[in-house]
Amino acid sequence: MIKYFDHAATTAVDKEVFEAMKPYFMEKFGNASSVYRLGKENKEAINIARMKVAEAINCNMNEIYFTSCGSESDNLAIKGIALANSKKGNHIITTEIEHPAVLNTCKSLEKQGYRITYLKVDKEGLINLEELERSITPKTILISVMFANNEIGTIEPIKEVGDIAKKYGIYFFVDAVQAIGNIKIDVKDLGISALSMSAHKFYGPKGVGALYVKEGVEFTRIQDGGHQEREKRAGTENVPGIIGLGKAIELANTNIDAYNKKLLELREFYFSEIGKRIPNILINGSKNNRLAGNTNICFKGVDGARLLYELDKRKICASSGSACSAGLLKPSKVLLAIGVPSQIARSSLRVTFGKENTLEDTKYLVSSIEEVVKELRR
Ligand SMILES: *Cc1c(COP(=O)(O)O)cnc(C)c1O
Repeated sequence: MIKYFDHAATTAVDKEVFEAMKPYFMEKFGNASSVYRLGKENKEAINIARMKVAEAINCNMNEIYFTSCGSESDNLAIKGIALANSKKGNHIITTEIEHPAVLNTCKSLEKQGYRITYLKVDKEGLINLEELERSITPKTILISVMFANNEIGTIEPIKEVGDIAKKYGIYFFVDAVQAIGNIKIDVKDLGISALSMSAHKFYGPKGVGALYVKEGVEFTRIQDGGHQEREKRAGTENVPGIIGLGKAIELANTNIDAYNKKLLELREFYFSEIGKRIPNILINGSKNNRLAGNTNICFKGVDGARLLYELDKRKICASSGSACSAGLLKPSKVLLAIGVPSQIARSSLRVTFGKENTLEDTKYLVSSIEEVVKELRR
């Protein structure tokens, strides 16, 4: 049996979610834009899913747009807001540890004449709120800060950023792809103008995401075509995917406290056992502001790629950093940003816990790591 410890990369579809999706592949296959019942019923089903998403984050259902993934939601929010508000200004503030879906979107806007400020982070991965405030100019139209980092699990001070954004009348976008399902989010309370999520990170299917955009926030669509998603996102709706996302977010929010408690137990056990048994390690990220299921540790003197390979031989799935940068030999940009020297950054192992993990599995994980690290250090 495979032991899966890479829940920040993706998760298995929950059985209940799969059951909810099933009818929409073969029996209820209609196009949601069609006028006959087979289509109209799907439009209604999509709107029920929309309501579930809205309920989960405390917004109205007309503020939710379905997309194909977290990356698309990030693109649509940032490019969409930037394009629609270019008359007001061309300056965007983000952080240097954002996911590539945000960073590369900002890079692309830079080529089109936008000016981007990339906020630095401290050794825990936290942004500095004073630096944020100092970076604001009369031309600033958008602040984009991720809720929780995908590599080191650091949870950013979102409420405080929301307050600053409000004070200066600037839109605030949050990439919440790692946070949804792990943290209870209330977009109103947090002062968030737009927020992205992706179903496959919380036991839903791959290939479907959602974007919240607060009513009144102007944004331009970036994909032209039909009238779907109230003119904001053209393309025939992925009905099974959307139904799956709706079911997954509902389940996640219902069970969020018990889920966090379980993950926290596994994480603390893992940290303490690794700390006791393996010398010369560096725990990356924050002790207190951290996703319950996230761990990221450097095993000094060990090549991270070989560590993963040896763990794979023992049927253990983990990650060296973000999935997007795995395979490349480059050290993680996030680890470099928190001040880890590049040689040490190459020895990192990200273990992210999830619902099917047990204490037994975690013991096996720890002893496997201990064995492999000893071997590779020899
Ligand atoms: C996974 C992830 C994304 C991208 O989501 P996809 O659905 O895989 O495109 C964006 N941001 C963060 C923080 C992520 O973890």
